[in-house]
Amino acid sequence: MRAGIELGGTKTVVAIGNERGDVLEEIRYPTSDPATTLNRACEWIAARGDPKSIGIAAFGPIVLQKNHEQYGRLLATPKKNWQGASICEPISRTFPKAKLALDTDVNAAALAEARVGAGAGVDDLVYITIGTGIGAGILTEGRLLHGTLHAEFGHLKVPREPNDAFAGICPFHGDCLEGMASGPAIAARWNESADRLPATHPAWELQAWYLAHGVLSLVAIVAPACVVIGGGVAQVEGLHQKIQTQLCRLSAGYFPLVEDKNFIRAPMLGQQAGIIGALILCDL
Ligand code: ADP
Ligand code: ZN
Repeated sequence: MRAGIELGGTKTVVAIGNERGDVLEEIRYPTSDPATTLNRACEWIAARGDPKSIGIAAFGPIVLQKNHEQYGRLLATPKKNWQGASICEPISRTFPKAKLALDTDVNAAALAEARVGAGAGVDDLVYITIGTGIGAGILTEGRLLHGTLHAEFGHLKVPREPNDAFAGICPFHGDCLEGMASGPAIAARWNESADRLPATHPAWELQAWYLAHGVLSLVAIVAPACVVIGGGVAQVEGLHQKIQTQLCRLSAGYFPLVEDKNFIRAPMLGQQAGIIGALILCDL
């Protein structure tokens, strides 16, 4: 038996499943304080048996370097009561024999889409989520990329569309990618919630413009075989195609990979990508 925990900013999902990432049983509940949230996960898993492995996909920023003394701890997060909390400690205390694997929610989603989702069998894949924020999980040569912390794709500096006067909403950078193209940025720019803007609205061509610039940087640096774009905002019809078209224009023939009409893909696992990734994280 293996277990997975997806620790989200608002909700937590706990599941037991198998090595293919199939969820056999799961429970969802609101994320509250660290002790309550993690103890509930442990109790639920323990009632179902003794897991050989537990994978955790968590919101961040988290320390992921295994030899770091702060491994598994949350750094500065807007969720104040989680700041400095250890995600692994309560779990390894309850299950001392289980193999633990921890990664970010977007890295877990990238792994899931690369193993059993939209990029099944691909070892070089980027998963981008566009929702309240923008983030990317990067699988390269079959491994999830961390660096000294983890990627912060959302805060990439992108050029400004020449006619765009919107200041951007990132509290740190104003007009970084997240400041210009996250769900709340779209709402602030157009005075309308992103989910209420029709697919024909000019917002989406501009959205594709910014995202294509972000993706081009990823292509230039990690050369993925495909890019899966999910999250609430990516549900708008035709957005993937618009990004692909803009990306081909920006590539100007230099990156043949992006000409593949399947280069930009919609996710296949939807809301389940994080928990499926958690179940298979321990296999890396
Ligand atoms: P979170 O990032 O908080 O986990 P989501 O990925 O669902 O949540 O993203 C929420 C954002 O997605 C909101 O800004 C919302 O307006 C936007 N959104 C949700 N559904 C759609 C839709 N169908 N089309 C465009 N935008 C959407
Ligand atoms: Zn920023």
